[in-house]
Amino acid sequence: MGYLPQIDMVKIIQLQVGGFDNNFSYIVIGEKKHSKDVLLIDPTGERSIIENKIKEMDLKVVLQALTHNHPDHCELVDYFKLKGVQTLLPSSKKLGEFEEKDVCGFRARFIHTPGHTSDCVCIQIENNLFTGDTLFARGAGNTQYGGNDKEQEETIAFLSQLDQNLIIWPGHNYGGEKCTLGEALKNANIMPSKKVLDLIAGKVKEYNAKAKRKL
Ligand SMILES: [Zn+2]
Repeated sequence: MGYLPQIDMVKIIQLQVGGFDNNFSYIVIGEKKHSKDVLLIDPTGERSIIENKIKEMDLKVVLQALTHNHPDHCELVDYFKLKGVQTLLPSSKKLGEFEEKDVCGFRARFIHTPGHTSDCVCIQIENNLFTGDTLFARGAGNTQYGGNDKEQEETIAFLSQLDQNLIIWPGHNYGGEKCTLGEALKNANIMPSKKVLDLIAGKVKEYNAKAKRKL
């Protein structure tokens, strides 16, 4: 049985929440069911900015997810937890492994992309990729706080073999609010060696085989 393509069935609200340094939080709304239930990604920064938007649009946050566990991405996790919002925490796994979750009328795929930290995930929803500090419009997050250069090079090699037209939504406004994965990788200043690219090709193949079901 085939599946129905569901492109553009989600609406993304990017919030400039200030925080540690030009942080973004995201609200993802499933448009298909006209549901008020939404997913919140990296709840952080100025609380009133998020709450006002939720109020203004009459939304209900049912799940919060983190791209990684750095404090500047989770300042408001406890606050939303106390309000009864479920929390999805990234768990350390291997590059390219993923979990999927149906939530708010769409499917979110949590792809492990260690490097900036060992617990980093990129969250794919349709053709959108929430990259946290794994990748910005310009540059990639440094590896000084719980990260690893080798893993980062492997993650960049992995991402460079995915659909380059995916839209990335980064965790900070470093050089732009969003762009294509291809553009971001061009600006990342990390060029994986041929050896690493070849090494990762197998993982990409494995990923593609498992990720067949379209988001
Ligand atoms: Zn970080």
